[in-house]
Amino acid sequence: MRLCENGLVGDSMRIVDVKVFVAELEYFEPFTIALGTSTISRNVVVRILTDEGIVGWGEASPSRRITGETVESTIYAVKNYLKPVLVGKDPICVNDILKEIDKNLQGHSSAKAAVDMALYDILGKNFNLPLCKLLGSSKNIIVTDITIGIKSPKEMAKSAIEFVDRGFRTLKIKVGTDPLEDVERVKAVRDAVGDKIIIRVDANQGWTPKQAVKTIKKIEKYGIELVEQPVPWWDLDGMAFVRENVDTPIAADESVHSPVDALRLVKSKAADIINIKLMKCGGINKALKIANIAEAADIELMIGCMGESTLGITGAAHFAAAIDLIKYIDLDSDLLLKDNIVVEGGVTISRDMRSLPSDSGLGIKKIAQNLIKDA
Ligand SMILES: [Mg+2]
Repeated sequence: MRLCENGLVGDSMRIVDVKVFVAELEYFEPFTIALGTSTISRNVVVRILTDEGIVGWGEASPSRRITGETVESTIYAVKNYLKPVLVGKDPICVNDILKEIDKNLQGHSSAKAAVDMALYDILGKNFNLPLCKLLGSSKNIIVTDITIGIKSPKEMAKSAIEFVDRGFRTLKIKVGTDPLEDVERVKAVRDAVGDKIIIRVDANQGWTPKQAVKTIKKIEKYGIELVEQPVPWWDLDGMAFVRENVDTPIAADESVHSPVDALRLVKSKAADIINIKLMKCGGINKALKIANIAEAADIELMIGCMGESTLGITGAAHFAAAIDLIKYIDLDSDLLLKDNIVVEGGVTISRDMRSLPSDSGLGIKKIAQNLIKDA
């Protein structure tokens, strides 16, 4: 027995090694948002090993356009700055470890999210509880939307019909390249799917504040649930202007990475909703802090993803199941990828419902070794 820094009793488990892998996962079709196009998702998988044989899995999906991280920088960060903090520590003392990691390295949120996820996996396995239960969840199913990347209005309408036929009741439509065509995109999808389907719109910073107001006013008649990140991430005044001038709720995505960003957003009254992504905030531990700020400020929450496989999505799903305030769930990136590194276990999908695994920790039982390469 020993004490954590904060006085809680931990057992004598120790982290003995941290392995880092890279996974290159192809999208079914090129995925375009206002910031660019992706054909593959290059992710970093982390495996933390302990002296008791408990193993923790985590995944980073670094986004150079959003968090400034690359696969290479993520691997370097984990190997050179995170691993030295982890080895020798009791993995149960998650708070202490993550605090020390933050002190040792600024930024690198996806790298930190992978390590955070693996630590929570170990925590759940140690106490023999699925992670969502450990976080206090009473749910084991969450309902997700599905995202349609930017294409021609006609192609987007076709994808919309396919997804609705598969059982999705909420569509997230990417726009933000050209305001006039963006209106056509939303119209085409609404015409194709009818009135019963919920439509969310994500401009990924693609509009100026005035363009945003003009465009949102035009698409409001098609029944839009919310508009995500209409203006550049740094322009909180611009986003507050948009929020003031339209009826549709505004969600902040790229504008909010950390808990500090969330507090700044609250003060600036720039959004009605915060989109939490583990890859932006650095993992579940930080995501809990954002959720607390949002609850105190009476701001709704969305949970989103980058290009995670089912491994990273499972981590986010456990968090989403535990946080009541998360009203909007966008955990779908693995559904857009051809390859799946999770062979057994993890979160599953039936129509638009994602079931949490009942095994302890993340509940990942088997990883496809052929899809992850030593980094
Ligand atoms: Mg977004």
